Amino acid sequence: MSRHWQTEALVLQVKSMGEDNRSVALLTRSKGLIWATLYGGPKSKMRALVSPFHCGQIYLYTDEVKQATKISDFAIHSYRPEIRENLFKTCAANLCSELVIKTHGGGEIEQLWLYVNSFLDGLCLVNEEAARHALLRFIWRFLNTMGMQPDPCECASCGTSVCSIYNTQKVFFSLAESSFYCAQCSSLGSESKGFFLHKEVVDYLRIITTEAPRVSRAIVLEEAFFYETQDFLVYILQNFSGQRFNSLDVLLKV
Ligand SMILES: [Zn+2]
Repeated sequence: MSRHWQTEALVLQVKSMGEDNRSVALLTRSKGLIWATLYGGPKSKMRALVSPFHCGQIYLYTDEVKQATKISDFAIHSYRPEIRENLFKTCAANLCSELVIKTHGGGEIEQLWLYVNSFLDGLCLVNEEAARHALLRFIWRFLNTMGMQPDPCECASCGTSVCSIYNTQKVFFSLAESSFYCAQCSSLGSESKGFFLHKEVVDYLRIITTEAPRVSRAIVLEEAFFYETQDFLVYILQNFSGQRFNSLDVLLKV
């Protein structure tokens, strides 16, 4: 049995397959992550269209017996050329693709679709500094879609607000429990493996979680807190997913 079908899709990654063909990872709105083949030589106009971060309506043909899908046509509505014009933005978008591919596009499809596309659209609109903050927010939200996001609001032990402490105090994050602890309870948790984080870092994560996007978008972290947030997110992302992300290594050097 075979069929033609169409869906909204974002091109995540394109790999060579033989001399003329391409293996394409797509995040589709109807089925999440799928792989499809793009046939055609170098002169094929489809080759330029089916490029990373392009988004639009894709036309597919699936051979159910061979369990193979090929791309017939692609009507693009977002080209996002700005991503290619800046090295950091390119690396950030590559990480976004790698996250979706390596975690098999898990989680709720519609939520993932919205997070990924709004992240890529946002990269096109902002300067590099804002893009670096946008990546932090994206990683944190991505952890949520994967069910791996710790609760940044309440102490896991006593239930008081983690962020209602003085700025000079630090918040303990236990890796074993995947939980934050208030200053009083931090002494109990500090024997297990984890991190002490500045209150500003946890407060930033709380605001991304609980406030409207325009509120967290307006926050610019001091450099030290920015890097502490980044190190924390990179660590828990790799630790919880059990994956190494090649594009992270590149990204952290840019
Ligand atoms: Zn507590």
